[in-house]
Amino acid sequence: MTTLVVEKQYIADNYNAIRDETGVCVIPVLKGNAYGMGETEAARILWDAGARLFAASRLEEALVLKKVLPQAEILLLTPYGTEEEVEQIISNGITATLASYENGVLLNGIAEKHGVKCRVHIKFDTGMGRFGFLPQDADKAAQAAKYLKNLIVCGTFTHLSFSFAKKRKHVMQQFALFKSCLNTLEKAGVNPGMRHIANSNAALLYPELRLDAVRCGSALIGRTGVKTKVKLKQVGHLQSSICDVRWLPAGHNIGYANTYKTKKPTRIAVVPVGYAQGLFTQKKADTYRFRDVMRDGFHDFLRLFGKGKLYATVNGKRAAVIGRVGMCSVILDVTEIECHEGDLAAFDANPLFINADVERKYI
Ligand SMILES: *Cc1c(COP(=O)(O)O)cnc(C)c1O
Repeated sequence: MTTLVVEKQYIADNYNAIRDETGVCVIPVLKGNAYGMGETEAARILWDAGARLFAASRLEEALVLKKVLPQAEILLLTPYGTEEEVEQIISNGITATLASYENGVLLNGIAEKHGVKCRVHIKFDTGMGRFGFLPQDADKAAQAAKYLKNLIVCGTFTHLSFSFAKKRKHVMQQFALFKSCLNTLEKAGVNPGMRHIANSNAALLYPELRLDAVRCGSALIGRTGVKTKVKLKQVGHLQSSICDVRWLPAGHNIGYANTYKTKKPTRIAVVPVGYAQGLFTQKKADTYRFRDVMRDGFHDFLRLFGKGKLYATVNGKRAAVIGRVGMCSVILDVTEIECHEGDLAAFDANPLFINADVERKYI
């Protein structure tokens, strides 16, 4: 059996650590099956930890959140553009993103038809190039807020395209643009409501960006990729029971494409999990810029020196993965490890990359 173990207390601990550090409202962003934690369960854990406002990227996710937590406010971070979708947003009482005047007209019209007010957060595009009013069109946002009478502006936000410590200048440019947008709203007599810009990295690295709220996803699973003094706990590890253990003679091939030969008699354990379940997969190859390709190439080169070797933990000991990772199998060198069929092999795994059909076990 293979399961993704999700440590419930770690999720709550991470949420509390970010709240204590930032001192502002922490909006859990539960997109992508809540970063692989499992949307329903993560929503419940965070509600119990005190979260009342949640965010999702896709309408489907927002609907699930609304069902699980009918009392919570659900902010849908993506503006949807068809009548059917906006109907769903309005009739389910989801807080929408107001990202253009046209989008506002659609939301407003359907809200009016239903005889309700639609809560919205205004979105500005200060550099991400995705959606939102451009800073030079901030007055259009103000007009939408003023004249579309069935919309209630409850918040205003933007999203950073590069939130690492090394990108301070870029972050501050986006922040300055955002402040100018807020200014335009206020000058036009529009209350921007809850102001938020920071994702996990920015929330941890840039205190001045915390404003009224921070939107955190990766920090909740303790996997942000930035170093801070806030102690976050890594959520998630993959567990699978060994299905076969046996000895192979020296000089025997291991796995597809004949990339590994045993140097001496070797005891191997086969674990029935692989990249089809998302183990040892990662996102790459979506940039074609020279310097990125060179950097990826350099990282690949470092593998010659054993960097990035893959391991599992079996009965408290570290076992190297040998040969290539298969679609549904991984082979471990357990020559020095006391183990049998049925013993568990544990792999560190970012829940985000583990397929939703791998059972989540909450502990
Ligand atoms: C995904 C997302 C976040 C959360 O990002 P993390 O870096 O994982 O914290 C915040 N805001 C928006 C708009 C997002 O799409």
